[in-house]
Amino acid sequence: MVSLRIENAIVLTMVEGAGVIERGVVDIEGNTIGYVGEADQAPPADAERVIDARGCVVLPGLVNAHTHLAMTLMRGFADDMPLQKWLEEKIWPTELRLTEEDVYWGAMLGALEMLRGGVTCFNDMYHFYEATTRAAMDSGIRACPSGVLLGFLPNAEDLLRQAVEFVKQTLDEGHPRIHPMLGPHAPYTCPDSLLQQAVEYAQELNVPIHIHLAETDQEVRDSLQAHGESPIAHMESIGLFEAQVLAAHCVHVDDNDIEILARRGVGIAHCPGSNMKLASGFQPLPKLLKAGAVVGLGTDGCASNNNLDLFEEMLLAGIIHKGYSTDPTAVPAEAVLRMATVDAARSLGLGAVTGTLEAGKRADITIIDLQKPHLQPVHNIVSQLVYAARADDVRTTIVDGEIVFHEGRFTAVDEAEVVAKAQERARKLVGGQAKG
Ligand SMILES: [Zn+2]
Repeated sequence: MVSLRIENAIVLTMVEGAGVIERGVVDIEGNTIGYVGEADQAPPADAERVIDARGCVVLPGLVNAHTHLAMTLMRGFADDMPLQKWLEEKIWPTELRLTEEDVYWGAMLGALEMLRGGVTCFNDMYHFYEATTRAAMDSGIRACPSGVLLGFLPNAEDLLRQAVEFVKQTLDEGHPRIHPMLGPHAPYTCPDSLLQQAVEYAQELNVPIHIHLAETDQEVRDSLQAHGESPIAHMESIGLFEAQVLAAHCVHVDDNDIEILARRGVGIAHCPGSNMKLASGFQPLPKLLKAGAVVGLGTDGCASNNNLDLFEEMLLAGIIHKGYSTDPTAVPAEAVLRMATVDAARSLGLGAVTGTLEAGKRADITIIDLQKPHLQPVHNIVSQLVYAARADDVRTTIVDGEIVFHEGRFTAVDEAEVVAKAQERARKLVGGQAKG
């Protein structure tokens, strides 16, 4: 039974070699994609609902491979500061005051921002992960929640066990949009023994590990001094990559690190906006792609971006590496769009679930309205999406077969209420600290 048919659209499936379907149909049966292909070959269907997508392009929902969603509450309150000062004087003291309700409303705000911008799935690491999970369930988005495990805390092992219990319970409940992970923060905040425990649990539960790796040159220098090897070589030595891993950033990586990341199939979240704003440096993305590494795009948290707009992130990924390498062929648009869809899904271990439009996968779909001055004429649809489109060109966002956002409105959430609650929480949280 076809619950929803999308017709008359340009369809980009993002399946390798599939090209562009000029007059396509996408059929959705419950939460799953049924038919995708040319209209004249579509099976006859008496669909419950039809979306006429004339003048639009239909593509897989975008996947945000790395964020800390509730940091929306800290958007713009502490910018243009050195990383360590920013963390120690602004972010960490504020996070100490966070409550579960703060995280819920901050995550709701972030979820609505992403759904408006065509993002159907996000990978999160944060405090009060149960609240982020609840926000994902309530807002309709797909999520990979994990706690942020700081190994220097005296109760770190208890926190890991609590996170393991959360993963077990979430897997038992089997919510179709929630895919939990374990989130040890980084090698420089977690001792090796704790990371090794996390690997054992991740293998036992068959869930990925979400971690920050090789974000700054200071991290690499400290690792060389402490262990005589780079953070990535050290993680290889202690067995981290025996588990499936999503490593955020991987900015400061050498040829040996790149070989390890590619050989181990480590998912990498490239966050160009955050890397530029925090002045972390340029990831050698062209080399990583050439080596066959699995790279997805992430926004990172809103305190270091300052939004959750994957279109902006695509533009950045598409242009900064060209400027940095003085090679206009570095990182073509096609590779960038893959990084925001199919490769981001693969980086999270969700390649069989989302990231492409294919029969049998979950129906996570974004529809972009092309009938706008900045999106015409269309010579190359992929270039248009990467270099010209914006988050607010999204007309419809469908997650797990449900229309969550359509023509400016959320179907099941009161957007004004979410914005008001998040404003109130943010005011209480950062209060007089905000500058300007
Ligand atoms: Zn991060």
